[in-house]
Amino acid sequence: MPSKSFDFGASQTPIKTNAPLISHVDQINLDFKEKEVEKYAKEHKLGYVNLRNFPINPDALVLVSKDDAVEGRFVPIHAAGKELRFAAVDPTNAKLKEIAASYTAKGFVVQLYLISEESLSFVLRLYDKQAEKVGVKVLELNEDALESYDKEIAKMSALVEHFQSMSDVDILNAILLGSVKTHASDIHFQPEKGRVLLRYRIDGVLHQIFILPPDIYENILTNLKFSASMKLNVGYKPQDGKLNFQVTGRQIDIRMSTLPTEFGEAVVMRLLDSKKSIATFDSLGLVGRNRAVLEAALQKSEGMLLVTGPTGSGKTTTLYTVLHMLNTPDVKIITLEDPIEYHLENISQSQIRETEGYTFALGLRAILRQDPNIIMVGEIRDQETADIAVQSALTGHVMLSTVHTNSAVETIPRLLNMGVKRYLVGPALNTIVAQRLVRKACTACRKEVPLTGKIAAEMTAAMTEAKKAQPELEIPSVNHIYEAVGCPACGNTGYAGQVALFEILNVTKAFEELILAEATPREMIAQAQKDGMVTLYQDGLLKVLAGLTTIAEVMSVTSA
Ligand SMILES: [Zn+2]
Repeated sequence: MPSKSFDFGASQTPIKTNAPLISHVDQINLDFKEKEVEKYAKEHKLGYVNLRNFPINPDALVLVSKDDAVEGRFVPIHAAGKELRFAAVDPTNAKLKEIAASYTAKGFVVQLYLISEESLSFVLRLYDKQAEKVGVKVLELNEDALESYDKEIAKMSALVEHFQSMSDVDILNAILLGSVKTHASDIHFQPEKGRVLLRYRIDGVLHQIFILPPDIYENILTNLKFSASMKLNVGYKPQDGKLNFQVTGRQIDIRMSTLPTEFGEAVVMRLLDSKKSIATFDSLGLVGRNRAVLEAALQKSEGMLLVTGPTGSGKTTTLYTVLHMLNTPDVKIITLEDPIEYHLENISQSQIRETEGYTFALGLRAILRQDPNIIMVGEIRDQETADIAVQSALTGHVMLSTVHTNSAVETIPRLLNMGVKRYLVGPALNTIVAQRLVRKACTACRKEVPLTGKIAAEMTAAMTEAKKAQPELEIPSVNHIYEAVGCPACGNTGYAGQVALFEILNVTKAFEELILAEATPREMIAQAQKDGMVTLYQDGLLKVLAGLTTIAEVMSVTSA
């Protein structure tokens, strides 16, 4: 589905104007009136059109407000580039002349057509049905607007009070601006009985922003569906679409999906900020030996690097960071993605379309014919993709991908379950990175708690284990850790920003032999630790000691 900007001007599918049934006598009268108008138009060397069966371009309709159309007794019927066609009942009408002149002054060429009163009233009725709902453009958001909304967005609930006096477009703008301002990754509209919840996902957690009245939501939904090229008249089955908006030169692409629910269509919008800077290993929280292992893995000219973790664990961000580091002029990199979340220069990125039969497996076969050095496949989740990925990793390609497993070691049985031959798994694999995202404690309000008692003992035990794996590991020596509190700066969540926890498994010869020997997960973990693997839990506690996050966060994403 093509992405469509909020900027109006792109030609839309014309709305078919189906005339209501009318009686035979009325029809003759109408025909007679139309003939009269046509004759008059000819005499005055004007075009004539009967709008009853004329396709009206919704982009044209929105160029003039309904009030102006009523007063000027005309409707805009066509807009393409700088060419406009106005269909008027009376070419001498002052309001019509004024509006036409205002467009001419902006460089538009306005052509006048003559229409009957019937044509006019017919299309004016369409305004209510279409123009007010569909063609409304969303402003190009600018930093000024961002600032002026700033306070209100900080107190989102206060914004709701202004809704009655705001236009639908302004409300939608406020919602989009709010998402940018709060660094939200997703916007959720969730209809319930008599109300619609608006929530943002910020740092991986959903926050309720405010409650919308259903009638306002209805208009916002229509706007959004139109902008995302969805079928407006379809609300009974799920739809997917794309749209984008701009904030001072920065384009935010949005993937939007709808789902019919008991109380209306639910909408989730995933914000993809194309200018969002690529993370670095530092900003990801990849430090020390973990970082060294990954950097060493990136030096290899073949083999697989797999990033694993549940949905929302930051796998894609890590892969993009790796791709960015590998992206030098002397290598050819091709990716297969769904969706393409960042656009990278000098890399061929291909969008998978499963619904149209363009699958990861099919794409991967095609990619191999393009002679790449490095291949990134969004996800390995079926045998076919797994088999081709393994084969390419064994035949001189660097293969990057993600697998949906909870720990690094679990990736081995996962690949075997997908049908990859046991004797190929070890040789194909270089490195497995398991990761989780935790929220960072807000530095404005976090509270020091002494590191004593049970927590201190647990900490010492875990750090002793980690030190066994990595003797060179530097453990912060502190006598306190932090708990989250909550303040206005962090929206009372106690957290701001995220950092990743890593568990990096280096597939050594010894580890490969364990795979062949059908070792248990416990044996594999022991070997991995012997080879230097610090677990997610241990890495989490290290980040607690470093003051980055809290025990509660680490516990919520790992098990000891
Ligand atoms: Zn705070």
